[in-house]
Amino acid sequence: MARESLTVSECLSIIEYVSDALTNKGTESAVSDIIEKLRVSFGVSCVSIREICPRPCSLRYTYESLNDPTKVKRINETITFDEDVWEGVMENFSHGCYVYKAGGDQSAPKFIGRVPNAPMCMIQVPMYSGRDFVGVLDLVDFDEIRDWSEGEISALTVCANFICHYLYKLNLTLTETRTGNGKDPITGFMSFSAFTEMLDEKLLEMLDGSPIAVVYMDIHHFKLINETYGYRKGDELLKIASRAIYEGASKHAEIIICRAHADYFVTAANVPEKAIPFFDKFVQEINEEVCRLLHESCPDVRIRVNTGICYVRDPKTTAATAIAHANLARKTAKKANMTKPLVFSDEMMEEIKYHEYLTNELPKAIRNHDLKVYYQPKVNCSDDTLYGAEALVRWQKPDGSFIYPDQFIPVFEKNGNIEDVDFYVYRQVFKYIRGRLDAGLPVFPISMNVSRVHFQQDNIVPYIKSLFDEFDVPPNLVDFELTENIYMNNFDRADSLIKYCRDNGIKVSMDDFGSGYSSLNVISSLSIDTLKIDKIFLKHAELDDNDKAVIESIIAMAKRLGMKVICEGVETEAQTEFLKEAKCDQIQGYYYGRPMDEESFNRFVAEHIVR
Ligand code: C2E
Ligand code: CA
Ligand code: CA
Repeated sequence: MARESLTVSECLSIIEYVSDALTNKGTESAVSDIIEKLRVSFGVSCVSIREICPRPCSLRYTYESLNDPTKVKRINETITFDEDVWEGVMENFSHGCYVYKAGGDQSAPKFIGRVPNAPMCMIQVPMYSGRDFVGVLDLVDFDEIRDWSEGEISALTVCANFICHYLYKLNLTLTETRTGNGKDPITGFMSFSAFTEMLDEKLLEMLDGSPIAVVYMDIHHFKLINETYGYRKGDELLKIASRAIYEGASKHAEIIICRAHADYFVTAANVPEKAIPFFDKFVQEINEEVCRLLHESCPDVRIRVNTGICYVRDPKTTAATAIAHANLARKTAKKANMTKPLVFSDEMMEEIKYHEYLTNELPKAIRNHDLKVYYQPKVNCSDDTLYGAEALVRWQKPDGSFIYPDQFIPVFEKNGNIEDVDFYVYRQVFKYIRGRLDAGLPVFPISMNVSRVHFQQDNIVPYIKSLFDEFDVPPNLVDFELTENIYMNNFDRADSLIKYCRDNGIKVSMDDFGSGYSSLNVISSLSIDTLKIDKIFLKHAELDDNDKAVIESIIAMAKRLGMKVICEGVETEAQTEFLKEAKCDQIQGYYYGRPMDEESFNRFVAEHIVR
């Protein structure tokens, strides 16, 4: 049974309580009382407030109320997020609160932080001061599922606003972040919200004037600087970098500048149309100067600056859009490993629209079963019998054409919808196996892909459990393919999935092995069943001696560690023969079969012996 939502009048009385408490008590004790009240009224296990730190991508617990007195509060605990995770979350919070229910199908919150056990439900309410994201109010319950009614969400949003407003007004919030005068304490520049307002004014005045260039910069791997040299040094270097950007940029133009957050800087300047061809180079010089200065201070870290530029010519453009476009150009530059500034282009605009289209269409595609699960056979090297298959998703549009996963998976990994896609795929696979079992047909292990994004929250294990409950599929018929980057980002959560699989006889494979950085050393401690050698090693139809040596040594080492080895992307007979000689266990690739729809795959199975 799920817990009932509060009634509208109960919600109103909470708002009243919050407003009274903040007016009549000292703010600090008022905030403690309020979160206590929220915890009791909503009947949840834990309510906490986390506020933004000046450190890149970090939040610090400042208030917490727990129903279990034996648990230690996390006050002052700081959590630093991965740059990518952070950016995704900021983007997501701009749409409002995050709600989560275990075993449900709605998208899950990203900012779970460290919790003692898997939450059954939670809501995360972002707190804003003006346009600046300053923190998050979390309500988490470990015992019961519940939905959050619109009234409850509104009440919590109002409460978060009240709290945020009072913390800010009385300067009780992390004073390191907010000095109260709208300035960034590390750089002394104006705050992001002041910058945005000023840029809006500049844009309005632009009529017939010269274009405005908005430049978005980020110091790549700044987290590494903090980790290697400590946060104090990190702050000092942010100051040095910001000075260099300011001095460089204001040499030729009147500029406005701010630190958007973390190690992200935004600058805007009027640039005469004639000067635009030289402007990129000028920005590039600033980048080089920043890199030089930072390198001087920390020679061990390879510093790079990624920059995006958006030239605004249309006065109707808002500051928020111009900044978002410059930021997108920066991200594109970063993805392409470009150290040169990249200018926002029409193609990028098209891409934004296409991503929006995909995101908007996804719920319908799932409802209408336009997402199709294709199966690609895995064949045993020893006797060419069928070992199993990998499930690969395709999106078939109503006109019959296909969108391939490389086009949409990265989009959904970024906006959090990947869970909807993957859970849909997992469900289809379980259904498929159940169908074969019921029909008395041969069955075999099917592997499913797990995105690293799943480990930003704790949903995946409960969801998998629920599928086993519903379809009663033997665990040895299911295999999860993880990529090495998940271990790097969220070791503990990835480890808990592996442990769950291990304890329950479900197989785990390491996908794309060799395409990243992790070594067999790391993997040896992880109890993985199968190592999947990445298709990158099979780029030559006839393998050259180097490729052969690498593959042979991976196979030998994996065997020593007690793992099976599969090679993917196998297209030719020569490759197949080599892999068989090298004692690879299985092969997957076009040579034996392309990914195929369920019907074709059933035919394929009927024509092959299943071991
Ligand atoms: P992956 O997991 O490495 O999957 C293997 C990819 O290699 C598939 O591309 C497959 O069609 C392709 N492939 C198979 N054999 C050969 C071959 O002999 N030669 C070549 N050149 N390619 C071969 P696909 O289906 O386009 O999937 C691309 C990637 O998208 C997958 O790479 C996987 O990372 C992701 N993906 C696919 N389906 C899902 C899904 O349901 N969930 C998640 N999270 N990711 C998925
Ligand atoms: Ca895979
Ligand atoms: Ca792969």
